[in-house]
Order: sequence, then structure tokens, then C-alpha cells
Amino acid sequence: MLDSQLIANIKAMPKIELHRHLEGAVRLETLIDIAREHAFEMPDYNVETLRPFVQMMPEEQRDMTHFLAKFATLRQFYRSPEVITRISKEAVYDAADDQIKYMELRFTPNALSNITRASPDEVIGWVCDAVNEAAQERGIVVRLIVSVNRHESLESAYEVVNASVNYVDSGVVGVDLAGREEGYPAGPFRPIFREAREAGLGITIHAGEWEGAQSVWDAIGNIGASRVGHGIRALEDPGILTILMEREITLEVCPTSNVDSGVVSSLAHHPLPWLTQDGVATTINTDDPLISGITLSDELIRAVQHMEFTLADLKAATLRAAEASFLPPVEKGKLLQNFHTWLNNGLYRS
Ligand SMILES: [Zn+2]
Repeated sequence: MLDSQLIANIKAMPKIELHRHLEGAVRLETLIDIAREHAFEMPDYNVETLRPFVQMMPEEQRDMTHFLAKFATLRQFYRSPEVITRISKEAVYDAADDQIKYMELRFTPNALSNITRASPDEVIGWVCDAVNEAAQERGIVVRLIVSVNRHESLESAYEVVNASVNYVDSGVVGVDLAGREEGYPAGPFRPIFREAREAGLGITIHAGEWEGAQSVWDAIGNIGASRVGHGIRALEDPGILTILMEREITLEVCPTSNVDSGVVSSLAHHPLPWLTQDGVATTINTDDPLISGITLSDELIRAVQHMEFTLADLKAATLRAAEASFLPPVEKGKLLQNFHTWLNNGLYRS
């Protein structure tokens, strides 16, 4: 049992989220409002009726198919610019309520334009405007990462990344490769990501989640990612672990998501502590708060409960997240300074 003071401290602790998908961070109540407004055919407009379609249930099989099925359902909800604006703002409000002071929120324009048929440029503009307004309102800093999927076409990835470059001054700081890892190597996306890097965008790639250490090498060696989403299967190859440390690659680890997608059997068996002890730059993130039914505070509390993390370990992970942010140097320096100050005050001293 954790003492309640420690739980309260973790909840109140200023936090950083580097890996959260907007499409997986929607409020259930908002989905009901959208369903009602757009007259979805549903037995009723009740949160509990909808929940199993968009969130992992306790008795549900944990595997990729069940996990990704939630995203397929969610794609049906992005009906209009107003919906996208609303969910973007609420994602910022929810992060602020969880004491997240800096967040890099990622979103997939192709998912959000599934129904509106808007161009990537339009969708990125809607998300930027909404997020900037909400972040200003709540006094937190939010930047955006634009995701493209491995299993979707290179042409559309080109279009999305090209559009992202237009929003560098509006909050877009990075690009991400997501989607089905198995059978879809990162290699073909190399020229697209090179353009993004040349335009000043950070690169993070989902790898080493559903595929092994080779996929992590693909992300950093072939594409030049400085951060890897998940990356936990790097553990399967000591050579890749060494490269991660030599190149100071940061892993955006999302423990509950890994259990929900069947990559890891339980939180107690999650490799996060081993990676961290080995000296890999790990951070702790949510991935999809709605789908996993969690907040970032929950993830940090679970790391203490199931992985023997201390408050000092959580603070160190938070500072590593600040170091790995895609902010330009001056802003990153300010962020680090703020976090050093906040985390070293009496309340969070372990
Ligand atoms: Zn992810």
C-alpha cells in the first residue's frame, strides 16, 4: 500500500508528458455529446454503453487487435472542425488538471480528417489554434507532434509532413511515425523525415513495441530519430542498448499501454526499471489516457506501486523528459530551470 501523502505528492507534482495521442485522449462524455449531436445509431447515449468500444475493459484480451480496434471506433467521431477544436481544448484542460506543465501532444491528421475530408493543412491549423488557446487559458505550455502511420501511404505521409512545416511557428515541434509496426519498416519514410529534420522538426518514432530491437535500430540508425516511442524491446539486443546510450536517445515509455496492447504481460514485468538502471534515458508517459483509462499521475503512481520507483526516480524521469523535449534551446533551458525549481521545493523532496 502506498501512503496517501505520497499519492497526493505525485498528483500535485508538476509533470511532463512527451507521448500522448490526441485521438486517444478524448473524454468519454464528449464522445456521447458528439454521438447525440450527430445522431449516431446507438442503443442509448450512455457512457457505459460506449466505454467497451473505446476503452480497454478489465476482462478484455490484451493484444494489438483489441487495442487498435478502439482507434477505429474513435475515428468515427471526428465529424467537424468544431469537434476537433473541442477535443483538442479538452485534452489540454485535462492535462492541466493533472498538473502537467509541459506536454507534447501528438495527433494524426489522417485520423482526424477521416470524415471531414479536410486537408492535413486545415486539420493541423484547427488543432494548433485550439491547443494554443486552451494552453494560454490554463497557463501551461503545449507543443504539437504530427503523426503519420506506417501502414498508410507514403504520398499521404509526404503531404502531412509538408503541411506540418507550415506550422512550426504555431506550435508544431516534431513529427512521429506510428501505426502497425510489423510488416511496415520505417525505411521508406526516410526522405520524408529528412525533410522534416531539415525544417527544424524533432523526430520521434514508435518502434520496439510490436517488433524487436531491429526496429529500434531502424528508427534511430536509418531515420535519425532522437526519441523512440516505447522502444522497450531494445532490451532484446545489448548492442542496441549501447547505441541508445551512446547517442543519448530518449525512450518515451508508456507502461500501461504496453500491458493493454499485450506487449508486456503485467506492470510488474515491465522492463522500465531495467532500462532505467542500465542507463537508458527513459521517460514515463500515458500514450492514450482514454483507451487505458489513466492519467499521467496514475502512471507515475503505478511505477511506484509495481516497479519500485521512488519519488526521486519520478523526478529524475521528469527532468529527463524536459531534456528530451523538442523545444528550441532557449525555451528548453527555461523549462529545465522551472522544473529544477519546482521539483526541488520541500513538497517533492524525497
Ligand atoms: Zn503512441
